[in-house]
Amino acid sequence: MEEAEIFARLNQLQEDLSEQFALEEEIVKLPRDLKVKQELLDKINLEYIEEHARSESAKDELKSLRIQYDDAVRARENAEKQMELISTQREFEALEKEIKDAASKEQSLLKQLHVKEKQVNEFGERLTEKEQLMMLQKQEVDAEASKIEALLEEKQKQLKNLEKKCTGYIGGDIDEDLYNKFCNIVKNKKGKGIVPIHGLVCQGCHIVLPNQFVNEVRAAKEIEFCPYCSRILFYEESEGAEDTFRKHVEDVDIEEGGLSDFVDSSEFDDLL
Ligand SMILES: [Zn+2]
Repeated sequence: MEEAEIFARLNQLQEDLSEQFALEEEIVKLPRDLKVKQELLDKINLEYIEEHARSESAKDELKSLRIQYDDAVRARENAEKQMELISTQREFEALEKEIKDAASKEQSLLKQLHVKEKQVNEFGERLTEKEQLMMLQKQEVDAEASKIEALLEEKQKQLKNLEKKCTGYIGGDIDEDLYNKFCNIVKNKKGKGIVPIHGLVCQGCHIVLPNQFVNEVRAAKEIEFCPYCSRILFYEESEGAEDTFRKHVEDVDIEEGGLSDFVDSSEFDDLL
């Protein structure tokens, strides 16, 4: 295959890969709304459980208060009945005190009972409200879930087709190794994995490259990667660039160390 043809194919592959990566990202982001809605539902559920527990213990307290109140009433009534049986002033005074104490206990318990009854009712109202809220939120989650499920299925199908299209580029000069490298570059370089050199400047990272290296790219005997940004390079004629190129060639010391000293980018190593 001609180099120009490989570059053209890589350019096409770049487009398809960008589409594939965008779709992959979309698929990841898709359930995000659902997650937010589900989290809200979980929160309401938890609040309901806590409120329900508080409501139950208020009911228990109310039950116990009722028993205490009934006991107090009975104690007072018993004391009142005994009034008919007493004969001495001393007995009368003692009993009278007993009745007074029982009545005051009864009153205090009645007050507590009313407060507790009010509390239990309020709990009941809040629980009903929360139940309704929970039901609405659950409906929203279910609706969102089925919407997303359908959408995901469609997107996954599209993705599978794109993946097939992209791996279809493997073959001939684009071997699996180059394909994988290129995928990584396109992914890491925001969709730009193959860029031209204008003059001596890489159009991906805008760094001036050594003459010798640019000459190798111009010769286009094999695929060359930018030593700075790792993108695949091809030479492209551009206005004024020829002059710059020539000027550089004239200016540069003939004993230039070459590319080996030049290529030392950890970013480059990571990618390739
Ligand atoms: Zn570069």
